[in-house]
Amino acid sequence: MLFSNLGLSTAIVDAVTELGYQKPTPIQSEAIPLALKGKNLIAAAQTGSGKTATFVLPILEKLVSGETQRKKRARALILTPTRELAVQVQSSIQAYGKHLNLKSLAVYGGVDLAPQKQALIDGVDIVVATPGRLRDLYTQRSIHFDEIEVLVLDEADRMLDMGFIEDINKIVEQLPPVRQNLLFSATLSRQVRELAKEAAPDAIHLSV
Ligand code: AMP
Repeated sequence: MLFSNLGLSTAIVDAVTELGYQKPTPIQSEAIPLALKGKNLIAAAQTGSGKTATFVLPILEKLVSGETQRKKRARALILTPTRELAVQVQSSIQAYGKHLNLKSLAVYGGVDLAPQKQALIDGVDIVVATPGRLRDLYTQRSIHFDEIEVLVLDEADRMLDMGFIEDINKIVEQLPPVRQNLLFSATLSRQVRELAKEAAPDAIHLSV
């Protein structure tokens, strides 16, 4: 399997090729074509499997195709357990999206809210967030969810271990009901499956 056979635009394939990626990892080969079809997915995937590109590349494809004018409100939302992961995912979005005109933002707790609020006012396409800070921003009406088309729960098991279930549920409740949902977790515990039932119904289960 080659990146050029997955159904991705040239601009996206070029970006991964320039990063030196020679071929998709197993999870990428399996999940990317399904994600591009709009399927809900639950993937058992460890760090190092290439899971970040697995959800970022289809999001980029969805946001660039058919859209000529950038909307101000976020269209994809990625939840991560930690600030470090949020920053890392956002830098992957920048790397994979370097030939595209999409704006991404990482929001997380422990820092001043004001710059994050201003960045949201300026407009973003993709938000990567830790659940507590995102809930605060939503409560303060600094972020609107009405244009969200894709939700990703990254490292879902770690988010549950860190006690984010209530924040996640409150956020998911506010999202448009018609959307694509992608859940990634190193382990698929009972709690993760329960979350998946709510947040990613009718998902295809993948484990590689
Ligand atoms: P992740 O599992 O998303 O944390 O990715 C682990 C590492 O693998 C990151 O440093 C990525 O840049 C790299 N990576 C992801 N996909 C590929 C690929 N298809 N070929 C080579 N490296 C990759």
